[in-house]
Amino acid sequence: MKPLRFRSLTFRLTIWYVVLLGLLVALFLGFSFKHTRNNAREDLDESLRETALRVATLWQRRGVTWEQAVAGVEEESESRRSFILVVEFEAHKNKEPRELARSSSVPTGAFLLDRDLYVQAESSGRDGPLFRTIRGSALAPSPLRVCLLETRDDAVIQVGRTTVRMAGELRNLAILLVLAGTLFLVLASLGGGLIIRKALRPVVGITQAARRITAEDLSLRIQTRRRRDEIGELVETFNAMIARLEESVGRIRQFSADVSHELRTPLTIIRGEIEVLQRKERSHEEYRSVLESTLEEARRMEAIIDDLLLLGRIGASARRALEKVSLADLAARVAEGRKPAAARQEVDLVVTAADPGNVPGDASLLERLLANLVDNAIRYTPPGGRIEVKVEEEDGRPILTVADTGIGIPAESLPRIFDRFYVVDPARCKENGGTGLGLSIVKSVADRHGAMIEVRSETGRGTAFEIRFPRTAAAPASTAPGDTG
Ligand code: ADP
Repeated sequence: MKPLRFRSLTFRLTIWYVVLLGLLVALFLGFSFKHTRNNAREDLDESLRETALRVATLWQRRGVTWEQAVAGVEEESESRRSFILVVEFEAHKNKEPRELARSSSVPTGAFLLDRDLYVQAESSGRDGPLFRTIRGSALAPSPLRVCLLETRDDAVIQVGRTTVRMAGELRNLAILLVLAGTLFLVLASLGGGLIIRKALRPVVGITQAARRITAEDLSLRIQTRRRRDEIGELVETFNAMIARLEESVGRIRQFSADVSHELRTPLTIIRGEIEVLQRKERSHEEYRSVLESTLEEARRMEAIIDDLLLLGRIGASARRALEKVSLADLAARVAEGRKPAAARQEVDLVVTAADPGNVPGDASLLERLLANLVDNAIRYTPPGGRIEVKVEEEDGRPILTVADTGIGIPAESLPRIFDRFYVVDPARCKENGGTGLGLSIVKSVADRHGAMIEVRSETGRGTAFEIRFPRTAAAPASTAPGDTG
């Protein structure tokens, strides 16, 4: 299933990135703009204050009138187009403000402000000049920035200038910042989108590879150059998972092939014998012999199927409450049942139990484990031999050993004896009724009880299977066997 474009991770990450970046850019640009605007206003105020101070300085010269001082300043700073007005104002006498001098660009009364403002200028005199922005003045259509500087002679020097230029510059700056910000955002988004897409490209590769890797072609692996990041880890984990899957599918295939083969052999024998029998009339003895042989093959098939069913049950059985099983009791019971077979084979079967060997487990499965080991020992031990079933404990770990003085297992076969259907000598196995599944069952039961199996064998001298169970003291009575130890 392909994700919808706008639901894809690339799309969503890009959107998040653009939104966050947009917010940051907007914050940054807003802050810069505010800072610049404050600076521009401060510069304007400073320039107004300087002009007002200049008027005061000129006036203080001997013999200079207010008109002359204003005209002098106007001359010095012609280009700046300041509106200058000197007002006489004595707040404590409740006088109305009166114009003493004004610059040429100011018509009479056009620049006179509210009386209250002069009162304020007077009271804030010691703190420095008073600044105000005046809208709707007759002097200019745009707002005026005005500085009111109180002099020691109850006069107020009033300097104003239009903010039109500053406003124009600030507007241009705002447009520039918005354009630059947008361009930056677009470029950064494109770049960010590309980076996110590049970062996520391996994920697309993994998805495609995963699609290709079907049950039919589990040999495929995701190919990426070696990377030591999260993606590399994901690829490695995924490949390891596919490898395990391949291995287990392989095992299942092999198992199915083995089962088919094992069941087919007795069936072929049965069919062959019946066909031979059909060709002509046979004696009673002949019929009897063929019937016996087909019965034997049928029994063999039944044994295989029983073992397979048991193996399936062990693998699939749900966790269930465990009972306390005494390995010593189990050994005595199994040995008792096998005594006749051992006697027929002329081997000694002895049980030595130094310890009760209590383990939490499934009694019937454990009995099967022990029975399989003892049956094998009887099968593969020549007359005159000895089989010992031993129960002991080491460091709180119950140990069950089945040792014989039989033919032994060749070293090269040892790693495979627990494989399903593996037999060292097929002819001998058939002869003594083995299915090649006995030790697989032993292994499954041991695994289920968390036990380890150790095999020691020497050809011609004998074999010993040692099952080491987990420490029982630490095993709570209600956990599954696989969890103990
Ligand atoms: P089988 O049903 O043939 O006994 P198992 O899975 O029980 O199958 O055993 C696998 C093979 O391991 C046997 O074919 C046999 O060759 C070998 N084996 C098992 N136990 C012994 C033993 N005690 N002594 C010698 N060989 C043994």
